[in-house]
Amino acid sequence: MKTTRLDEFKCPWCGYALDAVSNADINENFSPKPGDLSICINCGGWLEFADDMKLIKPSPGNIAALPIDTTESLVNLTENIKKANILKQFNSETSIL
Ligand SMILES: [Zn+2]
Repeated sequence: MKTTRLDEFKCPWCGYALDAVSNADINENFSPKPGDLSICINCGGWLEFADDMKLIKPSPGNIAALPIDTTESLVNLTENIKKANILKQFNSETSIL
């Protein structure tokens, strides 16, 4: 997994500060380019690299054009992030008791 550092930015979905992306591809030499998708590690929101390499909300048209296996992978990643966040909340609540 290769991590690419970015200028800090806020997720357009949740406002979480992010400064890097890691690829889910097995190709170690992969670097993001305009049009590539990413997912916020905090909220699971889908993100797209704009022409200036800033991460924005993807357009509905780009999402609709994704191959079904890519869509399924993104949905699975989003669900895993949301599940992990629910478990974190549960763990923080139970540690107070
Ligand atoms: Zn987010």
